Amino acid sequence: MKITELINNYSYADILKKIDNNNNEDKILSILQKDKIEFSDFLSLLSDKALNILPSIVQKSRDVTLKRFGKVISFYVPIYLSNECLNQCIYCGFNAKRQIIRKTLDINEIDKEFIKLKNTGFDNVLLLTGEDNNKAGLDYLKEAVNLAKTYFTFVGLEVYPMETEEYKELLNIGVDGLTIYQETYDKTTYDAMHPSGKKKDYDRRLTTPDRACMAGFRKVGIGALLGLFDWKYEAAMIALHLNYLQKTYWKTEFTLGFPRINPPASDFKIPYPVQDKYFIQLISALRLYLPEVGFLLTTREKPELRNNLIGLMITQVSAGSKTSPGGYLDNSSDEQFHVSDTRELKKMIEVVKSKGYEAVIKDWEKNFASIK
Ligand code: SF4
Repeated sequence: MKITELINNYSYADILKKIDNNNNEDKILSILQKDKIEFSDFLSLLSDKALNILPSIVQKSRDVTLKRFGKVISFYVPIYLSNECLNQCIYCGFNAKRQIIRKTLDINEIDKEFIKLKNTGFDNVLLLTGEDNNKAGLDYLKEAVNLAKTYFTFVGLEVYPMETEEYKELLNIGVDGLTIYQETYDKTTYDAMHPSGKKKDYDRRLTTPDRACMAGFRKVGIGALLGLFDWKYEAAMIALHLNYLQKTYWKTEFTLGFPRINPPASDFKIPYPVQDKYFIQLISALRLYLPEVGFLLTTREKPELRNNLIGLMITQVSAGSKTSPGGYLDNSSDEQFHVSDTRELKKMIEVVKSKGYEAVIKDWEKNFASIK
C-alpha cells in the first residue's frame, strides 16, 4: 500500500476514537511492561489517561533510548543558504508575501560560513533553502554540497521536494541525508497553510521520503511542524509514516524531528499550541513505538526543556543555530523563526557532559570521534 493510501485510511475522528478506546492507567502500565508495542498500544500512550502516569512513560522511554543508543548525544548545525521562496506557507518567516530582507549566499559567502562553523567544532551540517529554483536550484545546491564535503563528514539537506533522479545526483556528490517535514498530516489544514506555490501539493510532499529512499540516501528524516493541528493526530500519522518507511526501505536509517512552531511574526496565531507536557508525552510515546529511530531536538525549544530532554529520549541536538542566510557571519538577512536556545556548541557540550553523556561531533564514520 502506498503512503498516500495508508494515511487516507485513518480519519481524525477514527484516530481520536482509537486513542480514547477503553484506556485506563492499569492498561497503560501493562503496555509499559512489553518489550515491543503495537500501533494500538502506541495510540493508548497518547491518551489523556496516559498523561496521568507520564513519569512512568518517560522513564521507560529513557530506558529504551539508553539500551539502543547508549549515553551519547551527537551535534549538528543548520546552515541557511537562501531565504528566497516562492511559496506562501503562512506560518513561515520566508513566506513569499512577507517583506523581509532576502538573500541567497554566493559560494564565497558559503565558504566563509563553513570555515566559521568548522572552526567552532561542527562536523555535521544541515543545508537549508526556501523553494526558488531560480535562486537556489539543483546546480546551486551541488556547488554548495561539493564545497561542504571538503569541510564536513556529514552533509544533510533540508530543501524543497525533488525527483528521484535529482536526489541521485546529490547522492553521487556525497550528500548523506535528507530531511523533509510533512508540516501537517491533516489534509484540510495542509491546504489552508499552503495556499500557493509548489508546496500546495500535499501528496507530492508526502511521497518525498519515498523518492529519497529510492534514490539511496542512507539517512532520511521526517516529522511534523507541531502546532498546526491536533498533536495526537500528528503523532499517530508520524508513527504510521515512519513504520511504513522502515518496512519499505529497510536499508535506510530514519530520524524524527519535533519542531514546535515558533512564529516569526506576531500576526500568525498558532492554531493548536502544544504544551510542554504533551510535547514530552508525544516524544516518549514515539520512542516506545520506534526504538531504533534517532530523535532530533532543535533550538526552537527553550534551554531548560532541552536540558531536561537530553538524557531522556533525544539522541541529537543542534547548537548555536542561526536561521538566516549568512547568520553566522553578520545577520544581514531575516530569519525563518526565532531561536529560543542561543547557547553555543561549547556550552551545550558542557551540558551533555554534566549529565554523564558523551558529546559526539562525528558519528557518521565507523569510529566515533568523541570530544575529550
Ligand atoms: S516553509 Fe519552506 S517552502 Fe514554506 S515559505 Fe518557508 S521556506 Fe518557503
